[in-house]
Amino acid sequence: MNTIYKKRIFIVLMILTVVVLMATMLIFWLGVNNDILAIKLIIWFVVALIIAFVSLFCLGTLMLVQGIFLKSKFAFFNPVIKGSIKMLYPLVMMFCKLLKLDEMQIKGSFIEINNQLLLNNKVKYLPEEILVLLPHCIQNASCTHKITHDIENCTQCGKCQIKDILIMSKKYKINVLVATGGTIARRKIKELKPKAVMAVACERDLTSGIIDCEPLPVIGVINIRPNGPCFNTGVNLDEFKIGLESLLKEEI
Ligand code: SF4
Repeated sequence: MNTIYKKRIFIVLMILTVVVLMATMLIFWLGVNNDILAIKLIIWFVVALIIAFVSLFCLGTLMLVQGIFLKSKFAFFNPVIKGSIKMLYPLVMMFCKLLKLDEMQIKGSFIEINNQLLLNNKVKYLPEEILVLLPHCIQNASCTHKITHDIENCTQCGKCQIKDILIMSKKYKINVLVATGGTIARRKIKELKPKAVMAVACERDLTSGIIDCEPLPVIGVINIRPNGPCFNTGVNLDEFKIGLESLLKEEI
């Protein structure tokens, strides 16, 4: 599936969610006919709240569409777009379940949109401001070297891509950590306080990581799982390199 199609999935679901919220607002509005003043006031308050949120979501969705498809770079609107995506995300996933859509596709679409927004932003960082997070399952399962303590413990035997990533990290002078789970990854981010993160993981972990780390910019690179989930996984090294270079201040 090409990336444009993937981005569309999440955007269509976002628009659908906004339409449902507008319909909800209409239903509340019709309920204003109640004769009891206290109930009328409560309904008006709820309607006003929904109008405020729906307006924000409409603006966020509109800016997202023009940012993604028309390649406009109004970085000024990014907080509105990101805020709308974050708030609508649970509802979008609810619709995804109701419509029995493929959850991974929706999450993949969300990651593509997140990455595109960061690329549109064109904000660059120094190597020491960037943290690259890798999942432990990328290490060959038979390897006994403790790379979660320090990736330098890898002896570069070449049985897994840790070797290639280690070489790349030296070339770009970036800090790379191998995390055994999302909780450790979040703890490391809090400790090291990077200005930008590039994370390799599955769709589920990347999505929750991107949302939890807001407003920290996180580029997500979806891992490759030829042996099923969480076992001897890999990463497309070209995608890895492109993601990294898109964050770095100057070409090295
Ligand atoms: S490349 Fe490094 S991490 Fe991978 S199997 Fe070899 S020593 Fe272990």
